[in-house]
Amino acid sequence: MAKKLDNRITKIAASQTIEVDTAAKKLIASGVKVYNFSCGEPDFAAPAFVRQSLVKAFNQGKTKYGASLGDPVLREEITRKLKRDNGLSYNVDNIAVTNGCKQALYNTFCAILNEGDEVIVYSPFWVSYTEQIKLAGGRPRIVRTDKNLEPDIQRTRQAIGSRTKAVIINSANNPTGMVYSRQRLQELAKMFIQHDLYVITDDVYEKLVYDNTKFYSIAQFMKAAKKRVLVINGISKAYAMTGFRVGYVAADKEIIGLINRLQSHSTGNVCGVAQVAAEDVLRRGDEFVEQGRQIFQKRRDLVAGLLKQNKRIKYIEPQGAFYFFIDISEIEKDSSKFCQQLLEQEKVATVPGVAFGQEGHVRISFANKESDLRAGIKKFNLFCKRY
Ligand code: GLU
Repeated sequence: MAKKLDNRITKIAASQTIEVDTAAKKLIASGVKVYNFSCGEPDFAAPAFVRQSLVKAFNQGKTKYGASLGDPVLREEITRKLKRDNGLSYNVDNIAVTNGCKQALYNTFCAILNEGDEVIVYSPFWVSYTEQIKLAGGRPRIVRTDKNLEPDIQRTRQAIGSRTKAVIINSANNPTGMVYSRQRLQELAKMFIQHDLYVITDDVYEKLVYDNTKFYSIAQFMKAAKKRVLVINGISKAYAMTGFRVGYVAADKEIIGLINRLQSHSTGNVCGVAQVAAEDVLRRGDEFVEQGRQIFQKRRDLVAGLLKQNKRIKYIEPQGAFYFFIDISEIEKDSSKFCQQLLEQEKVATVPGVAFGQEGHVRISFANKESDLRAGIKKFNLFCKRY
């Protein structure tokens, strides 16, 4: 008999965002019309100039092994981006290019955690944080956000203990779309500095904020403790380049050194031509980002208008990212059951709140074309009505 498989991986769940999306895409491939509001992935194509970037990269021979931490030219461009957009000063030595933000986060947890260390995670949270922390040997310490979906100061203070090593901040937030206020981030930063915590800030949705909302990275308020701040970002969302898998970590040189050790053994460099494309969009992709932002804002308004007609749900309108996190607890407490039936009966794919640590909720991504949003949200409303 084969030896029993029982390890860190057998104790975690597969990513539900990916699972639902894969199931929806399978149905679509079999010819079924599905309204796929599950995965957070812009539906439009990457900037057209990326085609030339790829050809240029190919002709330059960027088809070979590169440095595990990434091409110095891209890393340099990332330092410029961080200065320009966020007022953060970093050198090339402070940057690790990773296979998407996902690997940036995972490598970060591996680099900073010891067995049993706790990481504060605010709920609802993005599905992979908790599982990645567990994979790295740590323990997620879940802290509920306040009624406005911002990190709660009082609860945070109570949660910090002798095992607390780090905290993760994500604004604009996945799954809620909340953008944390300057004042709240400053208050948190003060507390984190006082307790000597590592602060990981996942800023991947920074460019997708709506109306007059202003984005702040908590890193801006932690300059006094720069050594303990890790900024995570990438090109997936703002530039509609999810499949390129280019993310990065900006952090203290020592941490980047540890990430280098890990990457040099586990993955090596990120795809060479993708890195050239990333460098190009960081340099000249602003116009594309602004166009995308405006499209998403219009879609957010469209979905909000349609959801207003649904009297059985509650939600706070998102200020950023591309998700509505909807309270369906009056209709059904079991979010997986709700989403399963919604997909079966109406062919509308959504992610159950339980994946984000909050039952009785469902996440709808509005990174989809308007006609699908219109038809799909109407179906969602009808489904809620008759449930
Ligand atoms: N981050 C996106 C989401 O939450 C993409 C899928 C994933 O990586 O989880 O839908």
